[in-house]
Amino acid sequence: MPRPVSHVVKRPGRKPEDPDLEIPVAEDLAGVPGVPLIDADVSFYSRVEPLESQTIEKGADRDWVWTVYSDEMARYKQAHDERSKPLVQAAAESAGVAPTAAPEPGKDITEDIRRKCREMGFGEVGFTKYDRRYTYASKKGWAKFPHAICLALEQDYDQTQTIASMEAEYTHYGTYEVEGALGLELAAYIRSLGYRAQIHSPSDPSAAFIPMFVSAGLGQLGANGQLLSPHFGSRSRLMIVTTDAAVTYDKPVDYGFHKFCQVCQVCVNRCPGRALEKQKVIWRGVEKNKLIYDRCRPVMARYDGCGVCMKVCPVQKYGMKAVMEEYVETGEVLGKGTDDLEGYTLPGRGYFESGKLPHFDRDFFEFPHGRREDWLFQQFKDRLATDGAPTSEELTEFAQRVKTLLKTDPSELREE
Ligand code: SF4
Ligand code: SF4
Repeated sequence: MPRPVSHVVKRPGRKPEDPDLEIPVAEDLAGVPGVPLIDADVSFYSRVEPLESQTIEKGADRDWVWTVYSDEMARYKQAHDERSKPLVQAAAESAGVAPTAAPEPGKDITEDIRRKCREMGFGEVGFTKYDRRYTYASKKGWAKFPHAICLALEQDYDQTQTIASMEAEYTHYGTYEVEGALGLELAAYIRSLGYRAQIHSPSDPSAAFIPMFVSAGLGQLGANGQLLSPHFGSRSRLMIVTTDAAVTYDKPVDYGFHKFCQVCQVCVNRCPGRALEKQKVIWRGVEKNKLIYDRCRPVMARYDGCGVCMKVCPVQKYGMKAVMEEYVETGEVLGKGTDDLEGYTLPGRGYFESGKLPHFDRDFFEFPHGRREDWLFQQFKDRLATDGAPTSEELTEFAQRVKTLLKTDPSELREE
């Protein structure tokens, strides 16, 4: 017998010409709009322990990954970084570019911007406050404008189903490149309406973006740590453009996924590194499933970016409407237990059907931790232990390398 429905969420279609989508949320999945959080705690942690980007906080392993990448991955990633450089640079300087027209007094331009973004190909577009509580410490003061336009660009369906593979990495990084270019086009459009715009590049983000996407009603946080949006789940790449334009904010939505993920758990069970926690915790004031970075990173680095947690998510594969309708009808998770949803291949390790996981030795999870300078100190200490006192030339070279690292402008260190 079908489950009682609490409410039906109505969202725009995937493309501008598509009909609206209606997503039924079962009564037993109804919760709060967005994510349960303790607002005062979010503020407290942002003041006392501000977030920092992976680029800086985990700099040591960002150098290390190049030592374990496959040749093809290293070549491709290097080429991607080169292609992204001008886009990242243009985004970094975008706040200073002046509007190209005078604004129309009193006009709210929310729907003009939304229409433009949808025409450009963004599948999800929402407006909210740029919440500085999620800004990275190294980017404090960089973000100039108060309003955030949250944008999700879908990545290719078929390529994503081949995770983990280089084919999937082509759409992962390729989507970032397209998105970076679209950011420039959108900023120019906003300036043509008389306002300023700043691009927060997906390749050099200023903040943890997902909380703002949730506030803008574009989805909810999944147990895989990714934004689950209605049409493509987490199969998208996120970017924010901030502006001083007069806009109206959207509201967070209860899609039922805060509770659904606890029923589903497919990503948790299928993660090769066992990096996803079954139970939710309160982390920096937000109730969520926490990802164990140290168990994810070695898998991602060695197996073409991994991404199994994206591939096996039914929302990514079937869309939110189909998943929620199935749950209302049967109480089941669409596709759960099938190889079609849960099976995956790890390059060099073979195929893992539903219920089967790879085994890794303990050494597999050893990798350098902390910032780049932390790793440098660790290497120095290891050397002292094995080779004894360094020469004065070696000491000078070490000091020089530390100085270079400490002087590097954090904004020159790009996100993955
Ligand atoms: S990327 Fe792979 S290892 Fe990391 S959390 Fe997802 S499934 Fe697990
Ligand atoms: S696989 Fe299931 S538990 Fe994981 S994010 Fe998707 S819906 Fe949530």
